[in-house]
Amino acid sequence: MPVLVAQSLDAALSALGDHPDALVLAGGTDVMVEINEQHRQVSAELDVGAVNRVPELRSWTVDQAARRLHLGAGVTYGEVESEPLASLVPALAQAARTVGSPQIRAAATVGGNLGTCSPAGDGLPVLAALDATVTLASTSGERTLPVSEFMVGVKRTALRPGELITAVEVPLLDGWQGYAKVGVRNAMVIAIAGACLATDRPSRSVRLALGSVAPTVVRAGAAEQFAAAAIDWEHHALPDDVVEEFGRLAAAASSPIDDHRATAAYRRHAVAVLARRLLTRAFS
Ligand SMILES: Cc1cc2nc3c(=O)[nH]c(=O)nc-3n(C[C@H](O)[C@H](O)[C@H](O)COP(=O)(O)OP(=O)(O)OC[C@H]3O[C@@H](n4cnc5c(N)ncnc54)[C@H](O)[C@@H]3O)c2cc1C
Repeated sequence: MPVLVAQSLDAALSALGDHPDALVLAGGTDVMVEINEQHRQVSAELDVGAVNRVPELRSWTVDQAARRLHLGAGVTYGEVESEPLASLVPALAQAARTVGSPQIRAAATVGGNLGTCSPAGDGLPVLAALDATVTLASTSGERTLPVSEFMVGVKRTALRPGELITAVEVPLLDGWQGYAKVGVRNAMVIAIAGACLATDRPSRSVRLALGSVAPTVVRAGAAEQFAAAAIDWEHHALPDDVVEEFGRLAAAASSPIDDHRATAAYRRHAVAVLARRLLTRAFS
């Protein structure tokens, strides 16, 4: 099993160009579990490209004029949950704090969360709510996709052989944002349902993205439009009757399944509760 530990983005892309089916390894917190549980085939011929030492992937920058955060795919959730990133994207920091344990977060990357594309990936509803884009690169060039188009199904992405996720571009909104999750306990838990709500005062928009309640993360468009029209933006106030209907519309946007973690009915109920809670917090 040849392992290349890439020291630069060019080296990583060139190795992937030569071995398009190589296994990309970032923090390894998903990959190693899959290998240990034999959900992923490992053979002597498998090429592995470790990208956790690529400086271009490990870094982030802010363009305040464009109100945009460039987050390298190799930035860990440990960094996202801490300052200064936590103040720039509070909802992503809140989601990061719910990922595994501090030890997991020290290794787990944003790019790895996207690469796995589990419907329960905690960072993904936040990226979807913020209208983030994913930058993909290969030896043939670069392309950018909205995160909603990058995630195509349960653990399925738009990534092509030979491509690397290099970064996520996250718009910096002007408004409240938050993430909340329901699990069987308060820590070290995969979400039964998760939700990110973000508001943007200049565009008077409300965004709500749901995790763990559909094959991939979904936006609750009807709930978003209903709330945006009903909110008193001048006085930053929420009419009393809005919250209940917002929760109902959020639940209607979900298409959950029964599984070992929860029933579909419980998940729908949880989505309504999370949506109501987040909207109330946003305007309290
Ligand atoms: C104990 C434990 C608890 C966990 N708890 C949570 C939780 O609460 N919430 C949650 O969301 N997740 C959780 N996870 C899952 C995991 O930590 C996250 O999904 C994490 O973000 C994965 O990042 P990584 O860098 O470790 O990815 P890796 O395991 O290295 O890679 C994951 C996938 O992404 C691909 N990949 C990685 N980087 C790139 C790249 N730059 N370009 C292209 N493909 C790439 C890999 O090939 C692989 O398919 C947990 C895992 C463990 C072991």
